[in-house]
Amino acid sequence: MTTHGAALQDAVAHATEVLTAPVAGLVPGRLSTSEWMMMVRDVERLGRLVDAARVALAGDAEQRTGGPVDALAALRFASAVDAVATLTGLADRDAKRRIRLGATLNAGLSLTGAETRSVYPSVARAVSAGNLGVDAATILTDALEGVSPRIDPVVIAEAEEALVHLAEGSPDHPPLRADLVRGQAHLFVEAIDPDGVRPREEVARRKRRFTIGPDTHDGLIPVHGLLTLEIGAGLKRLIDAHVRKVTFTDGPRQLDDTTRPVEAAESVESVESVDDRTPAQRRHDTLADIVSAASRVKDAPELAGAAPAIIVTVTQTVLDSGRGVGSIDGVDTPISVDAIEKMTDSRGIQTVTMNPDRRILSLGSVQRCFTSSQRRAITARDGGCVIPGCTTPAGWCEVHHVIPWRAGGETHTDNGVLLCWGHHQNIDRGPWRLTMSDGIPHVRGPGHPDRTHTTKTRTGPPLTRTG
Ligand SMILES: [Zn+2]
Repeated sequence: MTTHGAALQDAVAHATEVLTAPVAGLVPGRLSTSEWMMMVRDVERLGRLVDAARVALAGDAEQRTGGPVDALAALRFASAVDAVATLTGLADRDAKRRIRLGATLNAGLSLTGAETRSVYPSVARAVSAGNLGVDAATILTDALEGVSPRIDPVVIAEAEEALVHLAEGSPDHPPLRADLVRGQAHLFVEAIDPDGVRPREEVARRKRRFTIGPDTHDGLIPVHGLLTLEIGAGLKRLIDAHVRKVTFTDGPRQLDDTTRPVEAAESVESVESVDDRTPAQRRHDTLADIVSAASRVKDAPELAGAAPAIIVTVTQTVLDSGRGVGSIDGVDTPISVDAIEKMTDSRGIQTVTMNPDRRILSLGSVQRCFTSSQRRAITARDGGCVIPGCTTPAGWCEVHHVIPWRAGGETHTDNGVLLCWGHHQNIDRGPWRLTMSDGIPHVRGPGHPDRTHTTKTRTGPPLTRTG
């Protein structure tokens, strides 16, 4: 054993022996408050001292796998991380983090055995003195590493020294908490590297991505992605604006109701109490509204010469009986005829008749869907999703057949109302009942025990009429 190793081992053995009994016998409740405060502070400092040794030792793992002799591979460790994780019982992630900080702070040994300086000597000194915790040290070195390729090393060294001084405290000021160290580090970095924001945005723009699918075995399509700040913030605002808690009025609308925003009206019960969707489900439904609105835009991009239609294959028997499933082109999970009918109502259907060997026999015209002029008329009447309290604007809504098409309901303005995607999905099961009376939509539901005329339109005179 080297003398360096022997001295260290002695010290560790001694400290362990001295500490084991008092730590095992510690009853914090028996301490006076001033003793407790002192212990919290002093034990933390002791912990930081031990951390300094842990970080320094872990940081050396890389050195032992690099170089001409891979000492760790010879001991059957797969990597530096594997060695540290196995020896300490740490998770890989934590071992990696500890190695990274140690490797950054450790002084090196040159080929002649002379010590070379640490890259961040001030941070290294404060850590090994037990004055700076591992968290704060990681924050500081990460912040400085981020700007070091572009900034003069002298400036970096000055910033490092000033930050460490702030973070570890001095006789004049107390040490900074780790979360405040982050803020200070950002301020310094922005001061010495004002152009840094631009490269960061460049990197963010390169990393932007959005992926959809494939569908999972439980019939859902996962989405993943990283949005740029402006797109992410824009999407969040758009969705939040419609997901927020809304209230609705009690009883039939009064004459002046149409001039008042729905939210400002007297509320008796929040939609929350009848809306059993979670906030995440409501965000999904708002996204559905946005998707449905975007697919209706006149100059939407075309796929193979046609508007981006969804191709659904379903047999006539299933459509006629209203029972069974079909399939969406490009998706493995089958879709119920119920869902197909809702898509049909708002997007239209073009029937392709094929014989059993899939030769096309006939091609029907688009039918069953409300035309754009019908939709405009319905929009003028309903002004948005007709469910009380729902704020989904008309442009995002689907047109719903109040009497289903299969039950003989016509594709006529007197049989169509605007519903957002979420309410459209739930209208057959949910608490709301829709009826048409002389071409005017009425709802019955929570807070509306009687059939209540419903409209969100703010353009014309109120059409109060109960039937
Ligand atoms: Zn709605």
